[in-house]
This record gives sequence, C-alpha cells and structure tokens, in this order.
Amino acid sequence: MLLPANPNFFARSPLDRAGHHRRDGAWLAQALDAPETVLIPFHQARPFVTEEGERISAGWLGAHARGRIAGDDALMLFLGLDAQKAAHFAIDVADPAPLAELGRFDDLRALGPRLARDDLAILGCAKSIFEWHVRHKFCSNCGAPSAVAEAGWKRECPACKAEHFPRFDPVVIMVPTFGDKCLLGRQRAWPRGMHSALAGFVEPGEAVEEAVARETLEEAGLVVREVRLHSTQPWPFPHSLMIGALAEVENDRETVDQHELESCRWFTRDEARALVAGKHADAFAPPPFAIAHQLLKSWAE
Ligand SMILES: [Zn+2]
Repeated sequence: MLLPANPNFFARSPLDRAGHHRRDGAWLAQALDAPETVLIPFHQARPFVTEEGERISAGWLGAHARGRIAGDDALMLFLGLDAQKAAHFAIDVADPAPLAELGRFDDLRALGPRLARDDLAILGCAKSIFEWHVRHKFCSNCGAPSAVAEAGWKRECPACKAEHFPRFDPVVIMVPTFGDKCLLGRQRAWPRGMHSALAGFVEPGEAVEEAVARETLEEAGLVVREVRLHSTQPWPFPHSLMIGALAEVENDRETVDQHELESCRWFTRDEARALVAGKHADAFAPPPFAIAHQLLKSWAE
C-alpha cells in the first residue's frame, strides 16, 4: 500500500499487512509451507544480510530454511503479502551459527541507506516488533510471563487475560523558521559542524502541535506561532514514530537550553540549500536517511 507523499526512509513498505491472517492459524501454517513464502532471520534485533562486492542485500530465505536455522519455538512474525501475494515472515534466530557462511547479522542503523528502500521499510517494522517483544516478556498488569499471539502482533497474559499490543513512542521533530531563515541545533556529542532539527517526546495529554511548541520553547526559548506538519517516519531505534513539522516562531532571539543543546544557529534559505546538498562551508546536516534532512530540504526548496 504505497502512499505517494511520504519522502522518508522506513516509510512506504511495499507489503500489504493483511492483518486478518494474523489470527488464522491454518492459513499461517499453509503459508509457511508455500514455495513462494520468504523469511528474514533476525538475531538480537539485527537483520540477516548478504554482501556481494559493494552491494548489501536483505538476506531473504525460502520458508523451507526455517527448520535449519531455528527451533519450533522461535518467535515468528507475519509481515504481510507482496504484490504477487507471497507471504513474508521474520524469524528470531537464537543461534547465528547455521547462517554464518551465507552472510551476517548486522546493525540496521549502520546498514541503513545501503539497503533497498523497500527492504528497509520491511526490516524496520520487524525490528521494532522484535525490540518490543524483548522488553515486554511479562504482563504489565499482573507481572506473569506473557505469551506471543497473533503471528507476533500481540502478547496475551494467561494469568489475568490482559492483551498487550506493540507500543511505539511518538516524537516531534521540528525546524523553527522565522521569515527567510531557519534554526538548527547542535548537541555536544555530535561530530563537529553537524546541525539538526530540534526534537523531543510527545507527552501524555498533549497534542502534537502543543509538543512542537513546548519543545521549541524549552530547547531554544522561542515562542511558536504556527505549526505546519510535514511528514512522519517510523524510526525503529528502538520503536519511535517521528512526527516532522515546520514551526514558525515569533522572533529570532533564541535562548539555548544548555542541558539539551550546545548551541543553535540560524541558516538562510541559501545556506539551507547548501546544507541539503552537502556544500555548506562549515556546517552539515543529517543524511537523507533522517527525517531532519527531509524537513530541511522541504523548507529550503
Ligand atoms: Zn496478567
């Protein structure tokens, strides 16, 4: 299900999630026997990849490989169907050894843009859900061990019958603008010259627009007059949803919160274009992989 407007990596998965199949044990068993079905192994939330020269690819295997790489109790996640109706699964592999000769398990963030965009969106989804399972083995209602249900999309508590669904954390990420310039921040730990959008978690009871205004005021001391939502990005580190916005502020007299940022800096539109192109004289912005880049690009153009 492709949506045309979203420019972000990890968005635009090519799979139809076909959620109605998640509860259908007979259908899932049949799908796992089908010759066209594929699965992607994960080990400790790192996807399996293969390398050929400079080219890195997601290490999709035929579903028949399942018995060789994992036990019957391995966590399986039904990811959806591609355009040819082939089922896609992810499988959590406890022992990486049987696959060592074919490829390697690697960090998705480091692999990032080297993978095909379609695979990146699918692998990001699987990673988020595996991370959730690792952190939610026990019922948050009564403390008993919970069990995987619905092809990996739910956990159920056998003791109190509570149901638990994968959670993700909404984060606002915004570029404050004032007339023909925009503000970017810098954290102390970042490489020299790097500047990026401001960001922070949305808090309970808060609208996204309110979170944009609060974080902009907290981090840069600027009062937001208008919030323009731009796009969103699933960000599987470990399971956030980045909500990108441009925030028009009242004036350009910022006060930097030194706990959060080392400094802030205003950039003209020409400078922003140079940042996006990687041609600014003494500053640089995150790569296209990050929504901050897409926000800046959209404003600059
Ligand atoms: Zn419980």
